[in-house]
Amino acid sequence: MKILRINMGAEGGPKATETPMGDYEGMGGRGLTSTLVAKEVPPMCHPLGEENKLVIAPGLLSGTIASMSGRISVGCKSPLTGGIKEANAGGQPSQMLARLGYGAVVLEGKPKGDNLYKIFINKDGVKISADNSLKMLGNYDVVEKMKKEYGEKMGCISIGQAGEMKLAAASIAFTDMEQRPTRHAGRGGVGAVMGAKRVKAIVVDDSGAGMRAPQDPKKFQEANKRWVEGLRKHPVTGEGLPAYGTNVLTNVINEAGAYPTKNFMWGRFDACQKISGETQAQTETARGGLATHGCHRGCVIQCSGIYNDKDGHYLTKQPEYETVWALGGNCGIDDLDSIALLDRMCDDFGLDTIEMGATVGVAMEGGLAKFGDAQASINLLKEVGKGSPLGRILGSGAAVMGKVLGVERVPVVKGQALPAYDPRGIQGIGVTYATSTMGGDHTAGYAVATNIMKVGGYVDPLKPEGQIELSRNLQITTAAVDATGMCLFIAFAAMDQPDTFQALLDLLNGFFGLNLTGDDVAALGKKILKSEREFNAKAGFTKAHDRLPEFFKKELLPPHNVVFQVKDEDLDTVFNW
Ligand code: SF4
Repeated sequence: MKILRINMGAEGGPKATETPMGDYEGMGGRGLTSTLVAKEVPPMCHPLGEENKLVIAPGLLSGTIASMSGRISVGCKSPLTGGIKEANAGGQPSQMLARLGYGAVVLEGKPKGDNLYKIFINKDGVKISADNSLKMLGNYDVVEKMKKEYGEKMGCISIGQAGEMKLAAASIAFTDMEQRPTRHAGRGGVGAVMGAKRVKAIVVDDSGAGMRAPQDPKKFQEANKRWVEGLRKHPVTGEGLPAYGTNVLTNVINEAGAYPTKNFMWGRFDACQKISGETQAQTETARGGLATHGCHRGCVIQCSGIYNDKDGHYLTKQPEYETVWALGGNCGIDDLDSIALLDRMCDDFGLDTIEMGATVGVAMEGGLAKFGDAQASINLLKEVGKGSPLGRILGSGAAVMGKVLGVERVPVVKGQALPAYDPRGIQGIGVTYATSTMGGDHTAGYAVATNIMKVGGYVDPLKPEGQIELSRNLQITTAAVDATGMCLFIAFAAMDQPDTFQALLDLLNGFFGLNLTGDDVAALGKKILKSEREFNAKAGFTKAHDRLPEFFKKELLPPHNVVFQVKDEDLDTVFNW
């Protein structure tokens, strides 16, 4: 494997250099992005300046036959939080880059002038060219143009208008199996950093590149067989997620009284049935879409789908639970078609659906629109695509929106919006939100699994006891999983079934010729978190930043009428291992 570095600010125009993995040998995904950012990016630099770097890294097992291994990590200093950022996505480009032998693509520097660039990577090398015809196009149009130019087999990594405008909620899109820009590294404004480098699209064609070959093919193939069997037999990864997608959680979290409704005012949404995963799957099937579908080749869980409009035409991929919540229940909206349209708009403009839903929720609380008004929500999002002054404020995220409108109830940590679980109703996820190096982030340590679904044991969601240990262990494990390129949803089966966890270890051992144990995985997770924490400390973060907004400690959340009860001094012990 090698690293492709592209200096966008080089004299005479952008310049590509291939270097050996060097210090980053044996690293992948979040392990590589966070280590590289911590080592090479000055923590106090401006996130949109020339010293920031955008690192795009396939996982350790990406490009192999291992099932579920197609996640790709994007790392940089975040324009949204000001701290280190890793956001990962599915789609095809991870497998393609890895098969071409790239451990990472690093965008460095910043070009002078206002040219916009595209980068083409295939087995013959790298070509960088200015293409101003792409300016201010949405992701769908960009991909159509790239398909015409580079053929039907390419994969595309791109930004929409939001990334070009360097908005702090801008995402980076990765194409799926149908070559649609539906998979996003959404969080933290990574798209704004790509926009600051003036790169609109990275097109990858892996024609002629074979699968990556394992050190021990027999062990690797046998482990993959056990791996797939384990994922298929677990009720969450084998039944719930394939049948209803992640949106299966709407009813579950609502029932638990932890479904943040109307900007985190209540824990239950009366109309949740209308936007539930069950209703969504039924709608998709009835309209000739798909209720079960993968976001990349080799996914056996297939939590995604295809959402068609009322006339049976493709509208968007199956909106995920977080999206349906953010743009739905959080804004009091109970119309699936409007939510699907908002999802499509976010994918096209290149916006994080969680951040945008939270921002619209704050805007509604601030009086800019009424809760439940789907058309008003669509109109607000259109402003972002147009780049109007209001649109740019909205595209800067919930924290900025709250300041502009003088709203006190702003659900953010380290400047990043909280996802679809109220931390008063699920206290374990509150610990993760507060302490994660990433800002408000459910994927950093998904305590919901244990608090609500009783996966990997059980810790009472409404009590503070046991939540620190739970979040700590999950944050460590997640950091390691994010390095492998495996989709995080494998964790349900791996946490519950020791033989499935062993199969994952054997995949790594068979591929790299190692003898890793569970302790080594934990050590890897700790190492990643340590480098991220060190970066954040140098960027000015203190323990005061590891806190939830005040209202979670003061306002009772119906129906359980609870506040967040984990003490500050206990939050400060999460990283004491
Ligand atoms: S389980 Fe879902 S998110 Fe994960 S790889 Fe499969 S389709 Fe993508």
